[in-house]
Amino acid sequence: MYHQPVLKNRRTLLERAEKFISDIYFTDCNLRGRLFGDTHPLESITVFLSEKRIPYSEAVQQNFQPCKVGDAFGPTWWTCWFKVVLKIPDGWRGKEVHLRWESDGEGMVWRNDQPVQGLTKEGEKTSYILSECLKDSEPHGITLYVELACNGLFGAGQGSMIAAPDPNRKFTLQKAELVVFNRDVRELLTDFEMLVDIVKLLGEGEQRGFQALFTANEMVNLCDPANPASFAAARSLAQKFFAQKNGESQHVVHAMGHCHIDSAWLWPYEETIRKCARSWVTVIRLMEKNPEFVFTCSQAQQFQWVKSWYPGLFSEIKRFVQKGQFIPVGGTWVEMDGNLPSGESMVRQFLYGQNFFKDEFGHYCKEFWLPDTFGYSAQLPQIMKGCEISRFLTQKLSWNLVNTFPHNTFFWEGIDGTPVLTHFPPGNSYEMKGKVEDLINTVKNNKDKGRANHSAVLFGFGDGGGGPTQLMLDRLQRVRDTDCLPKVQMSNPDVLFSQLESDSSLLCTWVGELFLELHNGTYTTQAKIKLGNRQCEVLLHDVEVASCLALCKRDRFTYPACKLQELWRLLLLNQFHDVIPGSCIEMVVEDALQYYDEIRTTGSRLLLAACESLGTSPYKGAGSSMAVLNTLPWERTEVVSLSGEGTQTRLALVRVPSVGVAQVTEMTEHMDSVSVTMMVDGTIIMENGLLKATVDQRGRLMSLLLVQTNRETISEGCFGNQFALFDDVPLYWDAWDVMDYHLQTRKPVIELVEPAKIVRSKGLQGSVSFSLRISGNSIIRQEIILDACCPYIKFNTQVDWEEAHKFLKVEFPVQVRSPNATYEIQFGHLQRPTHRNTSWDWARFEVWGHKWADLSEHGFGVALLNDSKYGYSIHENIMTLSLLRAPKAPDANADMGCHNFTYALMPHTGPFQEASVIQYAYNLNFPLRVYHGVISEPWSAFSVNSPAVILETIKQAERRENALLIRLYESHGSSVTATLSASLPLKEAWHCDLLERPDSSIPVSKTTSGISLTFKPFQIRSVLLIIQ
Ligand SMILES: [Zn+2]
Repeated sequence: MYHQPVLKNRRTLLERAEKFISDIYFTDCNLRGRLFGDTHPLESITVFLSEKRIPYSEAVQQNFQPCKVGDAFGPTWWTCWFKVVLKIPDGWRGKEVHLRWESDGEGMVWRNDQPVQGLTKEGEKTSYILSECLKDSEPHGITLYVELACNGLFGAGQGSMIAAPDPNRKFTLQKAELVVFNRDVRELLTDFEMLVDIVKLLGEGEQRGFQALFTANEMVNLCDPANPASFAAARSLAQKFFAQKNGESQHVVHAMGHCHIDSAWLWPYEETIRKCARSWVTVIRLMEKNPEFVFTCSQAQQFQWVKSWYPGLFSEIKRFVQKGQFIPVGGTWVEMDGNLPSGESMVRQFLYGQNFFKDEFGHYCKEFWLPDTFGYSAQLPQIMKGCEISRFLTQKLSWNLVNTFPHNTFFWEGIDGTPVLTHFPPGNSYEMKGKVEDLINTVKNNKDKGRANHSAVLFGFGDGGGGPTQLMLDRLQRVRDTDCLPKVQMSNPDVLFSQLESDSSLLCTWVGELFLELHNGTYTTQAKIKLGNRQCEVLLHDVEVASCLALCKRDRFTYPACKLQELWRLLLLNQFHDVIPGSCIEMVVEDALQYYDEIRTTGSRLLLAACESLGTSPYKGAGSSMAVLNTLPWERTEVVSLSGEGTQTRLALVRVPSVGVAQVTEMTEHMDSVSVTMMVDGTIIMENGLLKATVDQRGRLMSLLLVQTNRETISEGCFGNQFALFDDVPLYWDAWDVMDYHLQTRKPVIELVEPAKIVRSKGLQGSVSFSLRISGNSIIRQEIILDACCPYIKFNTQVDWEEAHKFLKVEFPVQVRSPNATYEIQFGHLQRPTHRNTSWDWARFEVWGHKWADLSEHGFGVALLNDSKYGYSIHENIMTLSLLRAPKAPDANADMGCHNFTYALMPHTGPFQEASVIQYAYNLNFPLRVYHGVISEPWSAFSVNSPAVILETIKQAERRENALLIRLYESHGSSVTATLSASLPLKEAWHCDLLERPDSSIPVSKTTSGISLTFKPFQIRSVLLIIQ
């Protein structure tokens, strides 16, 4: 059958086939050169330029000016609206006719007032199909609009992708014309491309590769590019090859279209709305042509955007969701960072996400979908399970710099023991192209060969959107069952995970966090975003608690459910995996900080309104009556400042009951418990009866004694509160990465600007201030504060930060020896080694934690608390908190300017659990709220009788005005029974899941003192309380 002679020269045969389809070489005579036929110019093209992103209806009203192919438009972030008038030649009857559009930027075609198709050169979408087979009855004269965003799929980085955007970039229109598209040439090209790739990827060790080689070679012999009649014989040879089947045991690839769209990254949030529309409308066009095509799509926020801005498109999407082609996945509001959001924030990501999916599409998502996030908290499995999800997909751990993660399909077990079935697509990508390479990598890289016979292949351009193309579908369609390649089926997450579940007996289990050994600078970069996140999490917590108390206390109080939902959605949006990590451009940072300001402004107003409903308002003239709210579930005795009195703020010591309110009164005890004294050598001693600190002139702790046991905290001969500056030049991902070698560049910050001096010498509070120069214009000003009755020493810090590629940290060398340190995570804590025995240990040279980290040996330990930081490292006996970074990409001005933050050191006897480290870290973060009001009697709404159990959340139940939702968790890592007491009028109580659905199978056990609840270590429990 083959033409002779075929010499034994693999290289010439292979390259011959490659040249036959090359788009560079021999296009005058090869097959590729025949892809397009005749061309025809447009009747007219005119343009309107807009600085803002405006709706279509507004754009088409504008005055359009003539323009031509070759013109350049801009600058960056503007929008060009093109009006395209075209007339298809009558002579093209029977042909497939495209509008060929090649330009920089991202385009959207509008036709008959609707968005119909995305156009991006980078996403291989440069054709809009006008007719698949032109008939006389079809309209030949058509007017279209093309909305062209002046940014690329990946923004507009100056010189490199992640560099800060070039504000003055021009975007050129290179091609705009009508063209005849030769579909038969495209099909044959795809056959060739797949065969050539099989030859190359199977190599010389597989006979199947040679069969592909001879097939492709013979196809070249049979095919005359100038004579389409010759194509059929070549195609049938290819089909014969592709139809040669596998045996039954072959690996099965579940192909799913996907389009990862970062909710903001190298472009602002506003542009993402258009990216969603461009990408998804293109998906709809593909679905119309390919009824088997399945597309997976995450992030409720993005659906919400499209619903608001493109209602027509949204209803088309709903239609294809019904058909089972457009598959909403993930269950969360956005694809959030997996480390930094609080436990409650994680729950809200699912609560708002799942409720949206249920409302709009009729069901909850079954899979958690986070392919691109920088590590995964060990509390996520329990949160997922509580939100109706027991399956998880990501691939990001393939980015590990040091250790190769050992599994692709496995059970991931969280700190409470909850397992979820987890799949990392072995192709190590969420934007494959349906090529032979993707399929072969999927089989080869699978680290669970023989254990898991099914894998996902997610195909489609991603990160900046784009999504799948017809070509990707055509590739996959050819090799559904082709010997030597995995079987390919167009599938969906449910089918894949059901397969994996049904045959899971050999799967391994990974316990604890999925730590990404890369991007560890993201715990620190963009400190103001981190601060905004922490403060707004606290504020929304307090608004909810105060509003619930007001709801139960006051008949006419309206719980601000809608406002709170709006504010939560802003907070959740900023938790997106390039925003809260700080890996976004400056425009996004500005938007994010603006959202935090909105939350602070509205949240403070809501908090005050709720507080003022909790007592009687002060009589006119009695304006100085102050009340105080404690939103935490334990009694607190703390020093608070009463604002607006003289030069020094007036202080008061207050005692407020658990989740309750009290009047601020003058307490006579402890009035003189703090004293601060300067010694002749300039060192300062601060004492409060619990701690005795010796501070040197540079503000460093020379000693910190736990008075009761006379135990020294600071390592002999060392200084606590020692600032250190490191060179911080990563290998590429500037805002993301801090590399291990930065540790070699440590320089202590010791240049004095102002030596330590006493600010408050006695009373309820003692304080000392000093300032140090970091370098040039960068200065640290700090006030060290010791309060009456407070077991920690506080460091209120202000830094003017003008640095490039530097990393500021503060260190506490402590007298503790332990192989492990403990870090707070969502609803619990975990341990990480303090040594560098193995590569898994030293790869964690910079780790994340929430409000506290602790280093304890038997009988004694030290906790380092913070109010807005997330980066820690505890190596040997040195506890280090990461404070500020200075990366220059993608935001050239990241973190420049003035920062305020607080951290605190708390030495303790016994285990940290018994020393109430967890509670004190809450106290540092959740200030007592002082407001004008009169409280006749101190009043407590809730209390819990076990210190292990933390009442984290008190809110109105979603969509149930007569119910409160409360959430508690076991924080010590112990099994415990606790009683929740409430002084509110409660009718009924129900256990519920994190989506707040009551579970009648677990009755609530009531005792005379309240509701009795049992907990396993780190268990989260939610209870619905029906109020009268
Ligand atoms: Zn991403």
